Amino acid sequence: MKNNNLVDLGEFGLISRIANAARSGRGVVTGIGDDAAVTALTSGMQLLTSTDMLLEDVHFRRCWHDPYRLGRKSLAINISDIAAMGGIPRWATLSLAIPADMPLDFLDEFTRGFLAMAGEHGVALIGGDTCSSKQGLVISVTIIGEQLPELILRRSGARPGDEIWVTGTLGDAAMGLKLVERGEGEEYLLNRLLDPIPRTTAGIVLAGSGQVTAMIDVSDGILGDFGHIAELSGVGGIIRLADLPLSPQFRAAAAGLPAFPHALALSGGEDYELCFTAHPDGREKIIALMKKCGIEAAPVGIVTSSPEVAVLDANGQPFHQSHQGFNHFVS
Ligand SMILES: [Mg+2]
Repeated sequence: MKNNNLVDLGEFGLISRIANAARSGRGVVTGIGDDAAVTALTSGMQLLTSTDMLLEDVHFRRCWHDPYRLGRKSLAINISDIAAMGGIPRWATLSLAIPADMPLDFLDEFTRGFLAMAGEHGVALIGGDTCSSKQGLVISVTIIGEQLPELILRRSGARPGDEIWVTGTLGDAAMGLKLVERGEGEEYLLNRLLDPIPRTTAGIVLAGSGQVTAMIDVSDGILGDFGHIAELSGVGGIIRLADLPLSPQFRAAAAGLPAFPHALALSGGEDYELCFTAHPDGREKIIALMKKCGIEAAPVGIVTSSPEVAVLDANGQPFHQSHQGFNHFVS
């Protein structure tokens, strides 16, 4: 008998449907199906654990996020937190609170996307939970990674004189969100919003490089996220607006706006790039290592001993977002 809806399928039916789709992975001794999963740890490594919750109409909208890319993104943003520590992502759990009227096709596509992202980054789904939701889909993912203790990168290691770096380009996801809100679509920018790629390999390579003093993933904009590094490291910094890496697609979309949207590059969310700090002597090595990973990284500022994080414009003058006539676009 083919089950076409969730009520017919039931909780155990749904779990076995997901479990059947999930393949085993490295270190999985006993996967989904017993009371608890059993995993084998790599000798000498420590565990890294992170959880994120996504609520419908708070973090995503079903009218924008197709289920396949929503499944991918649910895991990608968690993998990004492991990458931000230089960790190797290994195992994940997935818990869903599901509205009773949700089509089974949606869940199948969601699961397909989740497991595709898992496969691309060496992650095995080892458990989770399902229940019914009275309002909206709730997605909770826990990711577990591992790394040698001496390679784990924290937010707290930045030193005055270090350069501030960022991988990839900034502001694309925030620009994609503005476009989707207006009912417009530019494929690259929308994909940056709906299907972010966590910087797993770059994170691991940077951890092993011996050059990086602190790292974080850019989920809330470089200004705020470098601010977390500054706070936990007891330092400040100067970010050079003119050096923020922007994609050609971002620049093209910006050209149609009344004022250049610096705020999207500085404070736009969901880029899931890596922001890190390193002594200037490591510059060439870092550029070469990132090139090997197939991505670019750019120095965008300098760590200072003052407790403030300042942004300077192309003339070296302090930049204030409120002076840019930008708010009508943001709101
Ligand atoms: Mg993070």
